[in-house]
Amino acid sequence: MSAPACINRATWPAYDPSCGVCTALDAERNEAADAGEWREVSKINQEIGNHPHMRRRVGA
Ligand SMILES: [Zn+2]
Repeated sequence: MSAPACINRATWPAYDPSCGVCTALDAERNEAADAGEWREVSKINQEIGNHPHMRRRVGA
């Protein structure tokens, strides 16, 4: 069994600190990583990468 790519935090997608959901997801993936739950980390990384942000539409 080989270690998953997401074991390396440098490969994690950046989250938007102005987004409460992404901030919560980042905290969650840190906890999952500490617990060695790489499947969960990978899932959260995908969620962060796919999180739709409203930055362009705010106030429009
Ligand atoms: Zn977000």
